Amino acid sequence: MKDYLQKAYCMNQTVRIYAAITTDIVKEAKSIFNLWPSSLQALGRTLTISAIMSCTYKSGEFLNIKLDCDGPVGKITVEATDGKVRGFCQNPGVLLQYNDGRLNIEHAVGAGTIEVVKDLHMRAPFSSSCEIVSGDIAQDFTYYFAKSEQIPSSVGLGVSIDNEGNVLSAGGFLIQVMPGCKEEYIKALEERLKTMKPCTEMIKEGYNPEEIINEITGGDYEILETKELKYECSCNRERFEKGLISLGKDTLTNILNEDHKVEITCNFCNKKYNFNEDELKELIFKCK
Ligand code: ZN
Repeated sequence: MKDYLQKAYCMNQTVRIYAAITTDIVKEAKSIFNLWPSSLQALGRTLTISAIMSCTYKSGEFLNIKLDCDGPVGKITVEATDGKVRGFCQNPGVLLQYNDGRLNIEHAVGAGTIEVVKDLHMRAPFSSSCEIVSGDIAQDFTYYFAKSEQIPSSVGLGVSIDNEGNVLSAGGFLIQVMPGCKEEYIKALEERLKTMKPCTEMIKEGYNPEEIINEITGGDYEILETKELKYECSCNRERFEKGLISLGKDTLTNILNEDHKVEITCNFCNKKYNFNEDELKELIFKCK
C-alpha cells in the first residue's frame, strides 16, 4: 500500500479530518539518513504532519517548516507541497529512552519554536511561529494551529519502530473545527478524542486512513478526497550551480585555486554533486 491521505467531513460538514499513512515516506527518510529511533520518531512525525498540512492549503503552496529546538535531535527542517515532502534533522544518531524502554521523544526534541513559512510564489511569503510546548510534535502542532492559525485542531501522529530500529508503519491525523461548528458537536468530538484508540496504537495496528477517520467519527463521515503522499527531493544540478555562482567570483576563484574541485551534498536526500576544475572555471565566467 502506497502512502496516501484521505480528507473527510463530519459533524454536518463543520469538522474536517485529514488522515494519512506515511510509512514509505518515513522509511525513505530512515534509509537516506540512517536515523536512530529518537531521530526517526522526531523527523518521521514532522514529515507526517507536514505532508498532511500541505494538503490543507491551496495547490501549489510551498511549506517550509522548521523546528528550532534544543534537544539532542537538533533542528528539524521539512519542506512540503501538494503531498510531496522532504526533510532532515541535525543529528540523525539519537536514541533516548525512559527507564522502561519507551522512546523519550519529548526530551529528544526539547524546547524551542516551530516556524511555518507558506509561499504561494505570488505574493510575499507568510510566516507564523509559536513555542514548542511538549516536544512530542503532535501536541506542538495542535498548539500551533490554535495559537498561530486560530483554528481549533487536534493532531495525532505515530511512527511504529521494531526492536532493530526499522519502520513498521507511520501516519497521523489532523482534525480542524470550522467556524460555525455547534457547541454540541465540539463537545461530542472532545468526548470521542478522549475515549478513542490513541493514534500511536492505530498506527501500530496498521490502520489505513479511512479506518482512522472511522475511529475518530464513530462511522458518521463523508470522504471528500484521496491524495497520494511521497518523499521527493526536488534538488538538481542547476540549482546548485546557481548557488555556487551566488558565492561570487572571488570565493569561487579561491575554491578553484585551493581545492580545484567542489563537492556539494544535498541536505534533503544526501545526493552528491561534483564540480571539477573546468566546470568551476565555467561558473566563474558566469559570475557577474
Ligand atoms: Zn536532494
